[in-house]
Amino acid sequence: MDYRIGVDLGGTKMLLALATADEGEVIRTKKVFTKAAEGPQVILQHLIESIEEFLSKEGLSFNRLEGVGFCMAGFYDIRSSRIVSSPNLPGWEMFPLEKELKERLRLPVIIENDANAAAYGEYIFGAGRGKKNLVNITLGTGIGAGIIAEGKIYRGSGGFAGEIGHLNVLPNGPLCGCGRCGCLESLSSGSAIEREGRLLLAESFPLPGAARDVDAGLTASHVFAAARDGNKEAIKIVERAAYYLGLALSFLVNILNPELIIIGGGLANNGDALFDPVRRYLNEAAIGPSGEMVALVPAELGEEAGVRGILSLLDEFLKGR
Ligand SMILES: [Zn+2]
Repeated sequence: MDYRIGVDLGGTKMLLALATADEGEVIRTKKVFTKAAEGPQVILQHLIESIEEFLSKEGLSFNRLEGVGFCMAGFYDIRSSRIVSSPNLPGWEMFPLEKELKERLRLPVIIENDANAAAYGEYIFGAGRGKKNLVNITLGTGIGAGIIAEGKIYRGSGGFAGEIGHLNVLPNGPLCGCGRCGCLESLSSGSAIEREGRLLLAESFPLPGAARDVDAGLTASHVFAAARDGNKEAIKIVERAAYYLGLALSFLVNILNPELIIIGGGLANNGDALFDPVRRYLNEAAIGPSGEMVALVPAELGEEAGVRGILSLLDEFLKGR
């Protein structure tokens, strides 16, 4: 009973991390593709098999595990311990996640929303070390956030706090995956930048260097590359995405007065090309004192933020029993 496993389930992949109980050190991680379309029962069965295979490769048996921390994308209701729904995982509506995991694992299990777990990971081990009030934003295909208030995850009354991606920043704006129009996610996410880039491509958007022939494979990084190359239309796309992100962050800053906003996810790899305009628009829109004190920094843990965070929460849970 001296090992623990952290799991981060997303729409396309599942990340497993094996850690020791005493040091909490992650000794190995493993990525497996998610059979997203097959629904929760198949995915959980696949998870159990993946854990067994993972352990056996380390020469460990299942009874060496003392707990599992599980985080996933989706609305997890902390009152009923059910997933209400998950935008990229069909078939999870009202799924009794805690009950199902405990029945299958027969071990102590904790469950968390993935954005909260990632925020906790950055808070304990990453860019947020030593800060007690922060927001961790994941800027990728979608936009998620986890809030740390006074050193604890702020979950709200049902567990649904931190949905920054669906702040309505442009009434009647582009259609969002949630069915509403003008959400931040429809304006500043990787998919939004990609969509705008493709619209330009249809009007013979001159792309730089190797990106010239990408056509259908165009991604947000091609748009950033074109902007770096001085392409005026690409610069406009980046500025617009940064404007709405800065605006949304100003809402958080005015309400929460955090000392730190951490930005991770694929888009954060664009560095100052993203951070500079976001910081500028954030400072313009936020109230003076809060805007002046908040630092905007890149995340440090990459895709391991979620499993690191959930393992840390599991450690606190097991010690507190
Ligand atoms: Zn939305």
